Amino acid sequence: MRDDDADDTTHDTHDTRAVRSDLAGPSGGPTRGRARPRGRRGPGQRHRDRTGVLHARGAGLRGGVPRLAQQAVHRRDGQRPHRPRRHRGRCRGHRAHGAGGGAPPDSPGTLVTLPLAECTAAGQTLDVELSFSVELGEGTDERIGYSAREEVAWLGTAYPLLAWDGAGWALDDAVPVPGETTTSTAFELASLVVRAPSRFEVTGVGAPAPAVQRADGTTEHRFSAPVVRDVTVTVGELDLVRESADGLTVVVAVPAGGSRAPATEWAQEVLDAAADLSDHFGPVPYDELWVSVLPGVTDGVEYSGAIQFGDVDPRGERWLLVHEVAHQWFYGLVGNNQARDPWMDEAFANYAEHLVSGDDDPTEDAVGVPGAVGRPMEFFADRRQPGRTYVDTVYLDGGRALVQARRAVDPDAFDEAVRRYLAENAHAVASPDDLVDALAGLPVAVQVLRDRGALPPEGR
Ligand SMILES: [Zn+2]
Repeated sequence: MRDDDADDTTHDTHDTRAVRSDLAGPSGGPTRGRARPRGRRGPGQRHRDRTGVLHARGAGLRGGVPRLAQQAVHRRDGQRPHRPRRHRGRCRGHRAHGAGGGAPPDSPGTLVTLPLAECTAAGQTLDVELSFSVELGEGTDERIGYSAREEVAWLGTAYPLLAWDGAGWALDDAVPVPGETTTSTAFELASLVVRAPSRFEVTGVGAPAPAVQRADGTTEHRFSAPVVRDVTVTVGELDLVRESADGLTVVVAVPAGGSRAPATEWAQEVLDAAADLSDHFGPVPYDELWVSVLPGVTDGVEYSGAIQFGDVDPRGERWLLVHEVAHQWFYGLVGNNQARDPWMDEAFANYAEHLVSGDDDPTEDAVGVPGAVGRPMEFFADRRQPGRTYVDTVYLDGGRALVQARRAVDPDAFDEAVRRYLAENAHAVASPDDLVDALAGLPVAVQVLRDRGALPPEGR
């Protein structure tokens, strides 16, 4: 999301607390769950494929959520040794409990913790089950909401995410700064099942299986994907268009009641943006890209293999399309802790806008807080205009810092280093140190990024 025009005084903080967690974090409740090591189930206990059931009241929608990532505690081959962290697992009890995690005290909280019944060795696979409900808000300018007038409901990050970053749990508090704050381990989406009234269209993520009509007037829609970080679903009175080019299929849903541009125009513009970005960063990391144009939403929110957009003019706002599609590489392919290191996806998405538009010579002075590109979102929470200062510093100054780093060295070598960073950290959650590693042969570029506060000072 890019929220230049956010009115900080009216933006509800609950919007940002919906999307962070360690073993979860829906804004809804109640949450129940349990975790158990795989292979230690008693006789007669059935292996379950689904980790929870999602109830969306007011939208006539009910769907299963995917299995949580099974690889959370696995070291990937070639990964550096894990750094020790302060947070260590507790080994007593096994009931899930919610915690504030920066959310107001009377709310369900943003963090669901599942203490293990017993200690498990690193690398052991766990099965986790969670049940919870999410109530959609009408007309929210956010990733979960519905429009009664348009008969469209949308859900993104509407269920718990496993926020393991490869070295520890992401436990950052939610903060009242508009923007994405997700950390999510990549996972195989074995099955996403959405059951909806048959008159509605449904979008999801990954590859759809043939829909199955049921006798009760509902239709079951199934989706699967080899690797994603999150899941989005949009249901309702939608016009759906599917178009393919260069191995990428774009599925666009717009409200059937009317949108500023038809779905066909959206599909073409998204494919064009993807082609331009592929010239710099390689093929789009997903075979399918699902795009939902939503009533009441003003901006864009990135997911892996999916994007939610407001009802904008896709040609007039091409920068927004480029920005959100760029997140398929920076956040989708290479994840990051968006609360702690937001520049690692937002500055790169802004940088991609510069590359694609040809405006790669930004000479303006910094517009945000000098030297603060790499600061976490909480740094901006106490500012007079948190949202605007955050965007100016992290997005705009961050994007320019990357452009300047590229111009300070051989641009081709810089591009190659960025592609190396993408390849080496594909489907992981990267840290600034990983970028330093990829740029190791370009110390002048690294110094530019250190000077702007994007990368930490040497030795830290
Ligand atoms: Zn963004």
